[in-house]
Formats: sequence, structure tokens, C-alpha cells
Amino acid sequence: MLPFIRQDLAELTAYTPHPGSASEESAHSESAIDRLDTNECPYDLPEELKQKLAWTYQQLIETNRYPDGGHAALKEAIAQYVNESLAESIPVPPLNKGGLGGVKLPKTAITADNISVGNGSDELIRSLLIATCLGGSGSIFVANPTFSMYGIMAQTLGIPVVSVRRKPETFEIDIEAAKRAILSEGCANDQNQNPPVRIVFVVHPNSPTANALTTNEIEWLSSLPDNILVVIDEAYFEFSQNTLAGKLSEHPNWIILRTFSKAFRLASMRVGYAIAHPELTATLEKIRLPYNLPAFSQLAAELALAQRQLLLAVIPETISERAKLIAALTQHQKLQILPSAANFVYLRVKASEGESAEVEHKQIMQQLKAQGTLIRHTGGGLRITVGSPEENQRTCDRIAAILT
Ligand SMILES: *Cc1c(COP(=O)(O)O)cnc(C)c1O
Repeated sequence: MLPFIRQDLAELTAYTPHPGSASEESAHSESAIDRLDTNECPYDLPEELKQKLAWTYQQLIETNRYPDGGHAALKEAIAQYVNESLAESIPVPPLNKGGLGGVKLPKTAITADNISVGNGSDELIRSLLIATCLGGSGSIFVANPTFSMYGIMAQTLGIPVVSVRRKPETFEIDIEAAKRAILSEGCANDQNQNPPVRIVFVVHPNSPTANALTTNEIEWLSSLPDNILVVIDEAYFEFSQNTLAGKLSEHPNWIILRTFSKAFRLASMRVGYAIAHPELTATLEKIRLPYNLPAFSQLAAELALAQRQLLLAVIPETISERAKLIAALTQHQKLQILPSAANFVYLRVKASEGESAEVEHKQIMQQLKAQGTLIRHTGGGLRITVGSPEENQRTCDRIAAILT
């Protein structure tokens, strides 16, 4: 350990979404591998959109110039997309026309002032931590298993993480345990040196467990005091079609995060966005790096929004493939499959007598990897991304071969 590096960073290990896959010898080339471990869309951008993007790059980008540091055009386009996802009173604009035309928006309509754009929603998570908890001003709360980046990024900033376990059967948040944990952080005493909880992170639907927030959970979030920021990560919104954006106007202490990395097929471009009260987005603008988003990424995200009807047209396939995958895996007595509102499926094995489920999870993950399917072993279970129909068929066949 170099002597000038903070002590607490020594204990942290770097986040590796594909553990071992970069360094290990593999019998498969990248293209032969079914990459079902990071919840991306299985399909690249359609060829004509790639060409359009390449043309845009050649015609519109001056590589010697800094990009638009305020993301004006992109924020406008995002605000319009968010409004579509809101009340039914806002009709979807006609295909490829863009603009809401003469449609009157309700008072709660989202504008560009409600939007902040990040280099992936990961950047926004870090900015939120800086804005609320840095320098001993707050702790964060998470209910595990959940997206690990919240805890990892908090730790890199020296921010304490308060956590509870979710209910083991449904993965709902244990609200009583959550209340107790948050309350006890609030009162300083000898056992507890942590600052009060300033952020509650939830994913809707949760990763890795795929369950959407329940009415009870939403009520609890609504009841949190206004000195706690509630981060609702809707990374999988396009698959669940269930958003809390309509409630933002009632809750100035709520923020919604979304990303272009999943349904919009732009994981390589690193674009995420936040929807929140204008004072909060203004604070995020102060914290982020000046030119955080490359010009090419901004153009790609704008193109994806303009072509959303085309890109999001594969979502019904993903949803029906998810049902098929769940039905096929449910055939195995040994597996317990959780319901899913996202583009992935979470499952656990029912451990044999004297065996540990976690040992079996690890074995299944490794055997699948040896056959060319990458999945994620996390949170005490296995998470499998819904891929193309061919990939999903191979997943089912390979799991069947392992279990019989
Ligand atoms: C994939 C994912 C994100 C997206 O992160 P980006 O930095 O935008 O790629 C955010 N939150 C959750 C829960 C995710 O699963």
C-alpha cells in the first residue's frame, strides 16, 4: 500500500462486473459467449441507426471543440420522453415527429430544469453522495441485496453505509427493520459514531431480485422526512413500465435515476439522467465534471430518443422471453424462481441435505461459464439476463444439463 493512499481504501476491492473473464483462459471467443450477466439489451443498434450516428459524427462533431457542457438539446429531449411516461393525459407524440405539438401539459410536467445528465447514472449516484453525505454530514441506507454501486461508491468517499436484509421470501424491504436502522443512526451515542442517514437508495424494480416496489414500500418512502433524500433508481423502467416520476411534484426530496444503458442499447456510451426538483438538479450541475459527457454520447442518446419507437419495439419480445425462461426454469424442482418486472430473472437453488445453497450457486455459475453462458452470482442467488430467444434456449438447455 502506497503510504499516501487513504487507509480505508486498502480494504476495498475494485468492482468487477465480469469476475475473472478478462484474465482467465477461456475456450470461447467473446462472440461465442452468451453474456447474460450485465442486463444489457441483447441487440446492438440497428445498422441504419449506426450509419446515421456515423454520419452525424462526421458532419456535426468538431473533435477539437469541447462538447455542449450544459447538455441543452439532450435535456429537452429527455424531459419530453419523461412526460410521455407520466400521466395518461399526455398522449404519445406521433412516430418520429418529436415534439408534443399543441398538447397542453399539466402543471406537473417535467422540463429541462428537472433533468441532470451524467456519465452513466453511476456518475449521478456519486454526485448525490457528494451533495448530501460527504465530510461526515451523512450516511446512506440500502436494503440488501440491491445494486452494489451505492455502497461501493459511498465507501470510496468515506461515507458510512447502513444496511438491512430484505425479507428472504419476497425480497421486499423489511420496513420495520429499515425504520429502526434509520432512527438509530439519527441519535449519536457511544456505540454509534455514524452521522444520520441522508439518502435512502431503492431500485424500482430492484436488481438483482427483479421485484418492483410495493404499495407498502412506496408509502414508507412517502413518509420519510424531508431531510432524507430518496433515490429511486428506475434503470429498468422500460421493462416494468412503472414509474414514480408522477409523484415527484409532491416529494421535493425524491429523485429518479434512469439510464440509456439498458433498454436503449447504449451501454457503451455511458449516459444516465436524473429527474428531480430544480434545486436538486442545479446542485448536481455544480458537482459534476465540467464536460462530463462526450459529444458523441450526447448525439447517440438524442438519436436513441428520437428513434425510441423503433428501439423499444423489442421490449414485448423481452417480456415474452422472460415468461418462457421463467416457465422453463420452474420445471426444475430444485430451483426457486422469483417473479420479475425487469429484463432479468433471479433464482435460488433449494439446497440438498447438508449442502450449502451458495456452494451450489457458485458451481452452477461456473459450469454455465464453462459452457459459454455468463450469469451473475450475487446477493445469495443467481441473476440471469433475458437475452435473445437463441441465448435463452441455450440457457435453459445448459441449466437442464447441469441439474440432471
Ligand atoms: C445498470 C444499472 C444502472 C446503470 O448504470 P449506468 O452507469 O447508467 O450504466 C443503474 N442502476 C442500476 C440498478 C442498474 O442495474
